[in-house]
Amino acid sequence: MAAGEDIAAGNRQWLLARRPLGMVSESDFELVERPVPEIGPGEVLARVRWLSFEPAMRGWMDERESYVAPVEVGAPMRAPGLAEVVASNDPDYVAGDVVFGMMGWSEYVTGRWSAETAGRGYRRVPAGMPAEMLLGPLGSTGMTAYVGLLDVGRPEPGDTVVVSGAAGATGSVAAQIARIKGCRVVGIAGGAEKCRWLLTEARLDAAIDYKNEDLGSRLRRTCPDGVDVYFENVGGAALEAVLDNLAFGARIALCGLISGYNDAEARPGPRNLFQLIVRRASIQGLLLWDFLDRLPEASVDLRRWVEAGEIAYRVDTQEGFEKIPRTFLRLFSGANEGKQLLRL
Ligand code: NAP
Repeated sequence: MAAGEDIAAGNRQWLLARRPLGMVSESDFELVERPVPEIGPGEVLARVRWLSFEPAMRGWMDERESYVAPVEVGAPMRAPGLAEVVASNDPDYVAGDVVFGMMGWSEYVTGRWSAETAGRGYRRVPAGMPAEMLLGPLGSTGMTAYVGLLDVGRPEPGDTVVVSGAAGATGSVAAQIARIKGCRVVGIAGGAEKCRWLLTEARLDAAIDYKNEDLGSRLRRTCPDGVDVYFENVGGAALEAVLDNLAFGARIALCGLISGYNDAEARPGPRNLFQLIVRRASIQGLLLWDFLDRLPEASVDLRRWVEAGEIAYRVDTQEGFEKIPRTFLRLFSGANEGKQLLRL
């Protein structure tokens, strides 16, 4: 075994204590400490250094049909992140290797990675790539923005593109790609500070503060010829407002519906779906996994745009293992300013 330097005795983990009914709270999780596992033949032990938080994780807490199995009650929460190998019985990994993929709310993760690569998908972090960039605009949210906007939304230069959740990790990248592609871009976000960032740093044409402005009338004023492409992260009132302002032949890329993720009962709606018929518009759900062949091109383009300053991004880094559940909750209050990460 190639032993790493500083393996602790205890492995703290945040378990899913119960399935939340309605808004997730810190009490839905339980902190435990277990021994760091001894690794067997072919196994790797890694210390988690960074965790990434995604609204979809709220869905993984529910027992319902989805595109991934729910997290079991009593198991550590599943979460993407970045870890450093500290001990390895696998010739493919040595202590010091830094990998990213699906981890958990756990200080250490272990497994037979070479044998399980298809399931775990751990990949080595490219040399010189900061975690904030890899888990931020070049990570799954940036990739989702890329394929969701370009392959599903299919904007043309001169189109009016509206993005909800526009100051967030996914929305901010989608909105700026639309700007790069020559579109007029209107972002919807909560609060004056996020709207200021959208105008000054992300350089959108307009920003609507849905918490303090009338969304319907602001959309009518900022999109007088209608919305050609809508990149949807939120659902609910935002979706209804945009449906009432569609241009003929509009495309809606349905990326997420965060406004309903904490509903105890599914809400009816949208009440004006008929507008899709009136405007001969289409709506298409998307999942990043269906676009794996597009990722190499997406990585190259996103990296180029970020390095050239064409895409501005914000990373909201919290610190400390004990703050993990609290950090997750930030996504649902809108406290996160950009991609929500936590450094362990
Ligand atoms: P994020 O946008 O960085 O953070 C979530 C943001 O959602 C919050 O900052 C808040 O922004 C907004 N929000 C929270 N509760 C809301 C509510 N009740 N009503 C309206 N807005 C609310 O998170 P992200 O990781 O980029 O995810 C954004 C969306 O993309 C989510 O719906 C997620 O599920 C989806 N997504 C989908 C895929 C896919 O493959 N389909 C992949 C990644 C992400 P404000 O302060 O502006 O309200």
